[in-house]
Amino acid sequence: MRRRSKAGGTAKVRGKAAAPKRRRSSVARDDAEAARLARALDEVQDRQRATSEVLSLISGSSGDLQPVFSTILANAVRLCDANTGAINRFEGDGLHLVATHDMPAAFTELRKKGPYRPNQTSASGRLLATKAPVHIVDLTADRAYLDRNPPTVAAVEIAGIRTTLAVPMTKDNEMVGSITVGRREVRPFTDKQIEVVHNFAAQAVIAIENGRLLNELRQRTYELGRSIAELQRERTNKLMNLEAMAASIGHEVRQPLAGIAANGSAALRFLGHTPPDLDEVRQALDRMVKDSYRASQVFDNIRALFGRADQKHEPIDVNDLARDVLHALHEELLNVTTQVALTSALPPVMGHRGQLQEVLVNLVRNAIEAMDSVKDGPRVLQVSAERHGNNAVMVAVEDSGPGIEPTQLESIFDAFITTKAHGMGLGLALCRMIIERHEGHLSVAPAHPRGAVFRVVLPAGRLEPQAGQD
Ligand code: ADP
Repeated sequence: MRRRSKAGGTAKVRGKAAAPKRRRSSVARDDAEAARLARALDEVQDRQRATSEVLSLISGSSGDLQPVFSTILANAVRLCDANTGAINRFEGDGLHLVATHDMPAAFTELRKKGPYRPNQTSASGRLLATKAPVHIVDLTADRAYLDRNPPTVAAVEIAGIRTTLAVPMTKDNEMVGSITVGRREVRPFTDKQIEVVHNFAAQAVIAIENGRLLNELRQRTYELGRSIAELQRERTNKLMNLEAMAASIGHEVRQPLAGIAANGSAALRFLGHTPPDLDEVRQALDRMVKDSYRASQVFDNIRALFGRADQKHEPIDVNDLARDVLHALHEELLNVTTQVALTSALPPVMGHRGQLQEVLVNLVRNAIEAMDSVKDGPRVLQVSAERHGNNAVMVAVEDSGPGIEPTQLESIFDAFITTKAHGMGLGLALCRMIIERHEGHLSVAPAHPRGAVFRVVLPAGRLEPQAGQD
């Protein structure tokens, strides 16, 4: 009984003494648990802050990946309690180092010399093969180091790294790069730290994809802008062509129409004479017929100019063409000394006779008008035709007028450029258009000692030259 009671008493006494101890240890456990939970919560919040920092950088990024990569690395290194970090991008020719954190300049210089092609024993080679994280607790004991793998040797001997963790960045199961964090001591990374780097790798892929899409969008927008500008230019050109066509019709037809009107009233006047002066009437009517023929030819020429390029093309002897034009303008050439230098046996050119005639008429008229201003000194017009190279002929129209300002040598071929009070500034624009539609070239240069020389070069046609011409 005593024993029992002793035992019981003892038990009671023991129970009384143990209670505060147990309470103390459970309180301590609770405190430790609370501290652990608080630490875990801190860690989670820290990770969330880092993630949202990176994501907000990505969403506000204008496509520049560098700040995103730097922030990713700084956070990865901090959250993993590491010393260094690096991001490599994998492109066709190997791994390119694109960002580092706390790596010595010598290491970066070495790696930036060119892409690195990983071999199988290297950490990157293993990453490529498995697309799973590669965790090397002691680099100096690793195959990659023992095989003297250059980036591993550099990591150990230049950057002093001992423990490393490389996590692949993958998109559609393809490796696009890697994030590496390193420690300058031998201490393995925890599973949580590996998971942290994993998350950052996923964010780096989002950043790359985002940058790619932005660049693509920019490129598309640029191309769209360019094609809109091209369309606008084309539209302006078309309008310009329409405007030029309308203006040139007016310009070319005005002269014969004015001639018809003047000759019509002259004919009426001569008919009113007593007796009617029939001879004069006949001459006026004759001129009216010629003018109306010329007006209809203008329409034909313009229609051909805006129609198919090779419409009504025929073999043309440029010597004949030049002679015909000079003959047609002989009255306007009365005060001018005309020198003609044609070359016999020139190959014919294939072209539209009316249009080529228009070109020469325009060039000769411009020359005559330019020489109108010459008060002293000779007024000399030189028209020549010769071979140009093996397969072309050249007709040149040279005058001894005031010439053309060197700065205007090209712009005078633009439409609506004129120095004449009643000029339209269309003649040379149409001439160039005609010649280019004949696959030829029209240019101007200063003549010596003064004046201007216009040169028309046309490809020779396939027909045999006709002999016996001057
Ligand atoms: P327009 O004769 O209606 O002015 P063109 O296109 O034929 O139109 O000529 C444009 C301008 O080029 C002329 O106004 C003139 O200033 C200049 N030009 C053309 N030919 C000559 C020339 N032979 N010598 C000097 N200037 C010329």
